[in-house]
This record gives sequence, C-alpha cells and structure tokens, in this order.
Amino acid sequence: MNDLLSCLPEELEALLLSVGEPKYRAKQMFPQLHRGLSPDEMTNIGKATREKLSAVASYHLPKVRRKLVSALDGTVKYLFELSDGHCVESVVMTYNHGRTICISSQVGCRMGCKFCASTIGGKVRDLLPGEMLGQIIAAQKDLSERISNVVMMGIGEPLDNYDNVVKFLTLVSHPDGLNIGYRHISLSTCGVVSGIYKLAELNLPLTLSISLHAADDDTRSSIMPVNKRWGVDELLTACKDYYGVTGRRLSFEYTLISGKNDTTAQAVHLANVLNRHLRTRNSTMPIHVNLIPVNEVTETGFVHSSPEAVSAFAKTLEKHGIRATVRRTLGSDINASCGQLRREDNDGRPSSS
Ligand code: SAH
Repeated sequence: MNDLLSCLPEELEALLLSVGEPKYRAKQMFPQLHRGLSPDEMTNIGKATREKLSAVASYHLPKVRRKLVSALDGTVKYLFELSDGHCVESVVMTYNHGRTICISSQVGCRMGCKFCASTIGGKVRDLLPGEMLGQIIAAQKDLSERISNVVMMGIGEPLDNYDNVVKFLTLVSHPDGLNIGYRHISLSTCGVVSGIYKLAELNLPLTLSISLHAADDDTRSSIMPVNKRWGVDELLTACKDYYGVTGRRLSFEYTLISGKNDTTAQAVHLANVLNRHLRTRNSTMPIHVNLIPVNEVTETGFVHSSPEAVSAFAKTLEKHGIRATVRRTLGSDINASCGQLRREDNDGRPSSS
C-alpha cells in the first residue's frame, strides 16, 4: 500500500494514472493532503476517484496520543501515535520569529549515545517521509497555527534514515505543500560521516548541526559509540568538506555533563580542535557552539554541569575565538527534550503488544 503523504507530486500522478484517473487530480490533491485533509475530506474529488485511489494508497496522519503544554513558555510536546501504533515525539516552540517544530526521524534510535533517552530501547524502525511530514501537519492542525521552522532533533538519527529524510526534505519544502524553505530547516547528526558527505553533494541550503559533546576521542567514544566508527578528526574533516562544498556554516551542539566533558582543559581542547580543523588558510568558517546542560535522564545517571561551570566553559571558548551560546531551556516543566515521554509511555509500543 502506498503512503500518500510520502508521495512526490509526480508519484501521486503515477498512482492516479495507474487506477485510470487523470493526472491533473494530483495537482488538486497534493496541497490538500499537506494541509491535513484525507481524500475522503476533499470536496472537489469525486467518490469514484477516492475509492479507486484507496485500493492502492492510504492516508495517515499521526494521532495525538498525549499532549503537554508548558505553563512557563507555551512549548507544546506531542506524543504522536503512528498508523502501526508505535509512537514518536515532537515539540513545538514559539520564538519571536515564528514557530519551530522539532521532529523525530525514527522510532527509537540505534546510535547508543549514553546520555540520551531515545536510544535506550534501540531502534524499532525508520520513519517514512510522510510520517516526518505528518508530525508537522498534525501539529499545525492541532494548534491552528503555521509552523515556519523545522529542526530534525527529535527521536532518531536522521542520517541513519538518509533516503527517507532527503525525500522528506523535498516534500516539506515543496511550494505546493508546506513550503518550508531549506533555510528554515536544521538537521542534527551525532556524526554519521558517510551521510555528511552524501548530504554535502546535494548542496541544500539547510543548517547542519553536529552533536559533538567532546573533542577528544577517548571522552567522545565513551559517551557516543558512533565515535568508534568515525573519530573526531574524521568528523571535523567531513564538516570542513561540507562547508567547502555548500558554503553553509555548521553549528555544534555540546551538552555539558558534570565531571565528564565540562572542564576548562576540555574547553581549551575543544576550541583548539575546532580552530585547527575549520580555521585553516582555505577555510574561515564561522564557528558556533551551543552549550546545553545535559538533561538528566533517570536511566543514564549523568548530572548536568552547574551554571558556573557552563558559563566558565563558554568564556573559555570565547577567549579562544569560538562563539558560544548557552541554549535557552524551553518547556523545562514538561520534560521537553525528546525521548522521555515515549519511554514513560511503555516505549511508545502499540497498546496491544
Ligand atoms: N541523532 C541526532 C538528532 C537527535 S538528538 C543527533 O544526535 O544530533 C538531538 C540533540 O539532543 C543532540 O545534540 C543530542 O546529542 C542531544 N541530546 C540527547 N539527549 C540529551 C540529553 N539528555 N540532554 C541534552 N541533550 C541531549
């Protein structure tokens, strides 16, 4: 069965042609599907067409299984149920410049980062392009508000679901669909180097964000298993290539864990490593590090750095020419970082299993 929300316009045309319907119907349907209407709700599509289409394709929007709204800042967190009953999380944050949604790219994750709640139960499956898109459409529908920015920082590793993520990017930026331009999209990776090279070749003007969290291989490998496959040098070489090809600056995420990666010596090392790799004669990439005190997850036992340690870390980076900001925490009263709501809810498993 084809997933209608995962179809590009030309694929929708082909589907319609395959059931003997004219392809101009695709032009009528595509924008409506992306506004959250199922074929049955489309008043300009006849019953016969809908019936023929339903034999080969289906329309699923994620259902809101739980919704938490922060009393502090209005951040909204959704636990969305997919058509097979598995769940993922999305978070909608409101900024001066509009609404940003943080979406999931997989059910669970297999990257194994030691501080992260999303990976505790491993990966269940990849999300389809339409299931990533569906999170945005369903949230927009629920809030009756337009969402203008997307960050792929929810559950899952986007570059471990490369083809579906790239197709999602084409769909979400399509002028007849949600029309969210690449400049309003960030993709975050734990450092899947092969995927960074592939993405660079596409030369999309999105923002690539690297979850670095440590700049020496021993520390990084101890908290992020992906570092055993691609070490810090290989990762930053890929980042430099990415900047060289696309001209888009990358941003680095660094989550501060008390006693693990938050010493002054580690800040100096981080600055040196970034400068050495990215500020060479041929590359003067502006470097930005987002510092995030680790969100404490019961199972991981990690403790966040004190506010003093965080600001000392930031100051050391600045002193060495690296711009650093401490991430503003939104939705702290609803545990807005991803993975935790799904775990609370029986790992988001279908309720029958
Ligand atoms: N797999 C991708 C995207 C999902 S994670 C990636 O690793 O980038 C989104 C961000 O949240 C990453 O920077 C990740 O390292 C960070 N993160 C995960 N668990 C966290 C926690 N407990 N506290 C703070 N940040 C966390």
